[in-house]
Amino acid sequence: AKEAGRNTFAFFTSAMNRDVSRRLLLEEQMHGALARDEFRVCYQPKIDVKSGEITGFEALLRWRNPTLGDVSPGEFIPVAEHTGLILPLGEFVLQEALATGAAWYNEFHRELSMAVNLSPRQFRDPNLINHIKQRIAKSGFPQHCLELEITEGVLMSGHGFIETALDELTDAGIIIAMDDFGTGYSSLSYLRNYPFDVLKIDQSFVRDITHDHADLELVCAAITMAHNLGLSVIAEGVETTEQLDLLATHDCDSAQGYLISRPMEQEDAKQMLEERQTY
Ligand code: C2E
Ligand code: CA
Ligand code: CA
Ligand code: CA
Repeated sequence: AKEAGRNTFAFFTSAMNRDVSRRLLLEEQMHGALARDEFRVCYQPKIDVKSGEITGFEALLRWRNPTLGDVSPGEFIPVAEHTGLILPLGEFVLQEALATGAAWYNEFHRELSMAVNLSPRQFRDPNLINHIKQRIAKSGFPQHCLELEITEGVLMSGHGFIETALDELTDAGIIIAMDDFGTGYSSLSYLRNYPFDVLKIDQSFVRDITHDHADLELVCAAITMAHNLGLSVIAEGVETTEQLDLLATHDCDSAQGYLISRPMEQEDAKQMLEERQTY
């Protein structure tokens, strides 16, 4: 038993070492990566469930590094949060997304929403709100078409001014979405206390709705509750027509997922808009 214990210990240590060195490698490669143009933004469409119309896009960050290849945001965003690089990165995404949104707005004359993810660290910057407003004004993108996706982590990172910040954004007509709804511990109290416009049901609930009755019940309850509070509901991670049909039956407003499209390069997203209005 002692032997096994020691082996287990050795196993954990080497696994931990591997994680640490991977993290260090990421940090190292990320240094200067923005200036080297290694980051870009992809766009995933959102549709109106009833009409199938494309209503907007979510901007998603991508990183391609000569040494590491493609690194997923699930892996590099936490590192960027840790090092603080998320601040210039967040800036980059916002600027790119607004520029793209403005270009499409001028070309297609459609009021498509553009959603940008904000992470906790960005929200700790007391200048964030002014900054966002200035950026929008400069871009020529309609203010009421910008959507900010915020997770519970942002609200938990606390500080009294988040409420004021969200109120200010709301007053400016900017749309506020609660991302990953259902995965945290306090989503309900946050919904009560903050001025959300959109509730985004996490993909882990959407995945099994066609065969897991409990998940379907939860999704339906979330939809009903959100509607009673005056929020609109989007389901993320929609991968099958069965899921989309079921969501339509249960009055979900919007959908996003691989079924409609994977996140696309900017030119491909534009081409999608040129070719059709609906999914
Ligand atoms: P998220 O905000 O919840 O974004 C949705 C994620 O689900 C994206 O992963 C998207 O590509 C993926 N997805 C979309 N449809 C489907 C589907 O049908 N099936 C499955 N299995 N997945 C789908 P991605 O792009 O890898 O991003 C992962 C996370 O990284 C995001 O989760 C978000 O938390 C973070 N992230 C990405 N870009 C940014 C950014 O610009 N800023 C910040 N702060 N976070 C970002
Ligand atoms: Ca999101
Ligand atoms: Ca999500
Ligand atoms: Ca609001």
